[in-house]
Amino acid sequence: MIVIKFGGTSVQDSFWIDKAIDITNSMIDRAPVLVASAMAKTTDRLINIANCSFQKNKEGIIETIDILKKVHIDAAEAFLTGENLAAALKSLNTLFDQLSSLSRGLYLLQECSPKSSDTLLSFGERLSTLLIYHRIIERKIDAELLDSRDFIITDDNFSNAAPIFKITNPKIREFVKPQKGKIIIAQGFIGSSEEGHITTLGRSGSDYTAAIIGSALDAEEVQIWTDVDGILTTDPRIVSDAKRIENISYAEAAELAFFGAKVVHPSTIQPAVEKKIPVIVKNTKNPDSPGTAIIDKTSGTGLTGISGKKNITLINITSSRMLNAYGFLSRIFQIFSKYKTPVDLISTSEVSVSMTIEDVRNVGLILTELEQIGKTTVEYNNGIICLVGKNIWKDSSLISDIFKTLYPASVKMISLGASEVNLSMVLPQDEIDETIKKLHKSFFK
Ligand code: ASP
Repeated sequence: MIVIKFGGTSVQDSFWIDKAIDITNSMIDRAPVLVASAMAKTTDRLINIANCSFQKNKEGIIETIDILKKVHIDAAEAFLTGENLAAALKSLNTLFDQLSSLSRGLYLLQECSPKSSDTLLSFGERLSTLLIYHRIIERKIDAELLDSRDFIITDDNFSNAAPIFKITNPKIREFVKPQKGKIIIAQGFIGSSEEGHITTLGRSGSDYTAAIIGSALDAEEVQIWTDVDGILTTDPRIVSDAKRIENISYAEAAELAFFGAKVVHPSTIQPAVEKKIPVIVKNTKNPDSPGTAIIDKTSGTGLTGISGKKNITLINITSSRMLNAYGFLSRIFQIFSKYKTPVDLISTSEVSVSMTIEDVRNVGLILTELEQIGKTTVEYNNGIICLVGKNIWKDSSLISDIFKTLYPASVKMISLGASEVNLSMVLPQDEIDETIKKLHKSFFK
C-alpha cells in the first residue's frame, strides 16, 4: 500500500482537488490511502475565529464562517451533481452548523482553550475530506471516507498532541484496510484523546498523520504532495536556479530542514524513517517532476544542499578556569535550560565556548548568569550557513574547496555536525546571501 498526502494548496479548490484525485487514481493499483490537509487558508481562518472570539468581534466570526462556507460550497457545486451533491451539501451544512454553534459558544465565553481550539481547527480537515470523498464517488471511483479520530489516538496535550503509538498502531490496522482499486481517505492533522476529545498534532501535522499511517501499515512509500518540486539545493529566493535534489538521506534532510529548508519537518516523518519507508516529496502543480526521495541512505560524497538562517545570536564564554575542569559545559547548559532557550550550534576549545541561539527573549538574564562562569560576549545580527553532504568530513578535498570558496567571508565560528553530514558556520547576517550564492555557484553548476 501507499500513503499519498496532499497539503492545503493541493486541495485548494475544485480544480486542484480533481488533480489530487487524478494523481491518486493513477496509483490506485498500489492500494492508496489519501491523507488530506484542510483547503488552503482554512486552518488560518479557523484560528481567526478563535482570535475574534477573544476580541468579542462578532462580525469577524460571521464573516470568516461565510468565507469558509463559500469556499467549500463553491467547490461542491463546481464538481458534484444530483443526489451526490445533495448528500455532500447536507453533510457540509451539518458541519457548518456545528462550527457556528461552537463559534457562538467561544464568542459568548470569550475564551478559546487549546482544547476548544483543537475542536475548532478540526473542521478544516473534516470539510476538505468530505469534498474529496464526494468528488471521488462522483467520478465513479471506489472510495471510503474514514474518520482519523477513530484511530489516531493521542495524549491530551491539545494543539500539539503526541500519538500514543501502542494504541494508535493497532487501531490503524483495525480501521484502515487499503485495497487495490479503491481510494481510502483520511484527515491529516486531527486525532482524538483517550477520553474521546478532539486533538490536533500541531501545525503541518498532516505530514505526520501520513507517516504514522504509513508506518503502521508498512507502506511501500509515503508521498507528500505539495507546491514545490521537492527539496532544492538551496533557497530559490536566494539562488533562482537552485536545483531539485533527487535523493537525500533522512539525516541530511533533517539538517537542511532545521536550518531553513522548510519543505518537510523531520520530526513529522520520523515514523516512516524508523521503518525505513521512503518519503517522496512531489509537486501537485508539476506532477511529472520526479520530486525528492528522502531515503534511508544515499551513497557517494559531495554536497547535497546548502541552507541558511538569519537572526542568529552568537554567545562566547571564555574562562581560564575551564582548563582541565569538569562540569563547565553542564553549568552553561543549565542556564540555557533554565530560560528554556535552545542552543543550535556549539563549538568549544579548552578555555572557551561559542554557542548560537535564535530566541533572544531571555538573553539578558542568560548573559548575567553566564558572566558568573566566565567572560561573556554577545554578537547579534549573525546568520548560519549549513552545508549538508554525504560523509562531508571524510572528504578533505571538498572541505578545502569549501574554505577556498568562502574566502574572504568573515567566518566567526565553525561547527562540525555530529552526524557527519553537516558543516555549519556562523557569519555576519549581511554576508549570508552572497556567500550562499558563491558556494552554490561553485558546487552545483
Ligand atoms: N491544516 C493544518 C495546518 O494548516 C495541518 C496541515 O495542513 O498539515 O497546519
